[in-house]
Amino acid sequence: MPSTALWRQLQRHNFTDWQTLLSFLELNTQTAKVSSPFPLNLPFRLASKIKKKSWEDPVLLQFLPSLEEGKHSPLFVLDPVADTQFQKTPKLLHKYLGRALLLCTSACAMHCRYCFRRHYDYETSKRQFEEELKEIEKDTSLSEILLSGGDPLSLGDTQLENLLAALGDIPHVKRIRFHTRFPIGIPERIDPSFLKLLSSCKKQILFVLHTNHANELDAEIFERLKQIQKLGVPVLSQSVLLKGVNDTVEALQALFETLIDHGILPYYLHQLDRVQGAAHFEVSEEEGKKLMRELQKRLPGYAVPKYVKEEAHQPHKSMITFSQVF
Ligand code: SF4
Repeated sequence: MPSTALWRQLQRHNFTDWQTLLSFLELNTQTAKVSSPFPLNLPFRLASKIKKKSWEDPVLLQFLPSLEEGKHSPLFVLDPVADTQFQKTPKLLHKYLGRALLLCTSACAMHCRYCFRRHYDYETSKRQFEEELKEIEKDTSLSEILLSGGDPLSLGDTQLENLLAALGDIPHVKRIRFHTRFPIGIPERIDPSFLKLLSSCKKQILFVLHTNHANELDAEIFERLKQIQKLGVPVLSQSVLLKGVNDTVEALQALFETLIDHGILPYYLHQLDRVQGAAHFEVSEEEGKKLMRELQKRLPGYAVPKYVKEEAHQPHKSMITFSQVF
């Protein structure tokens, strides 16, 4: 148990140093197999949910840099979904009809080891979007803008306010979709000021929460999300199927049931994108299909997400079908 002084200090910070994290978790730093150029970043709040003395904890596995990240796997590449080939501007990706994705920032509340943008060359210096907004304004086929990154909730309120106002003034943009993992680590980001931003936006907002395990969730997170739901903003979830983290039917069932118990509809379960450094997280599609078949038996239809993968150059996400075998 850390001293009171250290505990207070930790509460205000993210863990960025693995030795400190492992000491906090009462794990032996001498036997640690830790290394990665993608730095550790884990909010204390989330780290405090990790079981002490357990290398196998499903939250820890998502954030602890592992030596396995250095193993070469030829199918795992720097840009697995060909983002760079769909850049209209440095921060605007246009892959699918009617929708475009704005890379708001490179900053995240946490660093997930399997992130498919972990090698992405973000333009981090400027958080202005003149070029992107001009492009969106010009392309009248765009009815929905996705705010992603990084994490759009990393932007300050003034930047977000300006961005939402500018998008709000473009007549053909009808919907703005947030993709975020931020509330899992720092739920207090959803404060009255942020809620005011959402409620004053002229367009329909959708809010997609990235969460992979029920242990990441708690009452405060749901209370904050409820405030968003009360604004008439649908809250959906997306998850990534990850070996050792959520690749059992029990883990997925607990996650999706916890979400629907709070009015959050599971939207997507993603097959892992084959990004360099994440091969050890891959669950085979055959295994994924088995899990989905079992989930379909156990859960109501609205609680079973679409099992999908992203294939570069396809016009939409590809459904992984898993029809029941009798
Ligand atoms: S929060 Fe999202 S964008 Fe950021 S590291 Fe995790 S998966 Fe990647």
